[in-house]
Amino acid sequence: MTLSRFSQSAKATCCNFSGGPGALPETVLEEAQQAIAEVPGQGLSVLGISHRSTWFADVVAEAEADFRALLQLPDHYRVLFLQGGASLQFAMIPLCLGRPGVAPDYLDTGYWSAQSIKEAARISPVKVLWSGAKDGYRNLPADGELAFNPGASYFHYVSNETVEGVQFHQVPGIASVVRVCDMSSDLLSRPIESERYGLIYAHAQKNLGPAGVTVVVIRQDVMDRCPGNLPRILDYRVHAGANSIYNTPPVFAVYVTMLVARWVRNEIGGLEAMEAINRAKADLLYRTIDASQGYYRGHAEPAYRSLMNVSFRLPSPELDQEFAAEALANDLHGLTGHRSLGGIRASIYNAVSIEAVEKLRKFMQYFQSNHAGRNE
Ligand code: PMP
Repeated sequence: MTLSRFSQSAKATCCNFSGGPGALPETVLEEAQQAIAEVPGQGLSVLGISHRSTWFADVVAEAEADFRALLQLPDHYRVLFLQGGASLQFAMIPLCLGRPGVAPDYLDTGYWSAQSIKEAARISPVKVLWSGAKDGYRNLPADGELAFNPGASYFHYVSNETVEGVQFHQVPGIASVVRVCDMSSDLLSRPIESERYGLIYAHAQKNLGPAGVTVVVIRQDVMDRCPGNLPRILDYRVHAGANSIYNTPPVFAVYVTMLVARWVRNEIGGLEAMEAINRAKADLLYRTIDASQGYYRGHAEPAYRSLMNVSFRLPSPELDQEFAAEALANDLHGLTGHRSLGGIRASIYNAVSIEAVEKLRKFMQYFQSNHAGRNE
């Protein structure tokens, strides 16, 4: 296979469209690099600073303050920085919020919500209110289609399905049931109505920072539901009581997450501004798909298209592969679709620049015209 270069100018590290861990802001990477050499004023590398230092307590406090400001959280919410990824939350949530004899309500809207359901079902029976599995997870339900149980122990959904690229643009659920949401791939990408949630969780490695830390936003009364006999490490109250320093936390990951939250606040100007940028990037790619006369076929139905993950296919799996390989040769990284779905996925998280997306758009147009007439 010969790989053509359509552009000579791209920097080797320019364009990271990886599904996660994903791109981080350049200024944050520079600060992190400096901190690995020496945290200004501390005389130590961030990789060797004690988690019991006042410096690190201040990092956690600033990270919490920035998340509070960005999400406009009232005092009865806590922001926790935990480990174990979103997958540990799949288990911690039913362990803490489940009630004997009462099933929680779940939505099955894609690969990751299916994983969360499988995990919760190991702990107690789960009620799946809706599943998009039969049509390959291209759609999302409207509230009118869902028979919510007012007595459910909690209601769980995934706001953005990272693999299929479907995203809720409204908040499902009913006010009387604690709403729990996996926002692993869209927290801090747009404003949210925080007070409608009892618990929000997001691993860092999409929009927030490096892998290793998971942000949990939890309302006090929800935290107080955890049974007293849980292992301490699985009890949100223990982590809240210790200001997220119950055991040795991933200091570097929390530090970088703090830098990213500061970047969103100070350099971007908050979540409205962040959403406007993200919307412009997504529009560029969806318009290219829609103008391709069926050469590129988007996975999600247009009403549910994600602003974070643009999943699409070319006319054949061979062309998908050629596209990803040729894109890579042009410094457009991470475009191969998730192993469960195949095809192409462009993840355009917060730190992916509009210039990078513009480069991808041009590459898509170039690739189509260069391969026109080849449909197999
Ligand atoms: N939820 C969503 C929406 C995800 O995208 C992912 C992983 N990409 C997970 C959960 C699992 O996260 P982790 O690997 O941190 O356990």
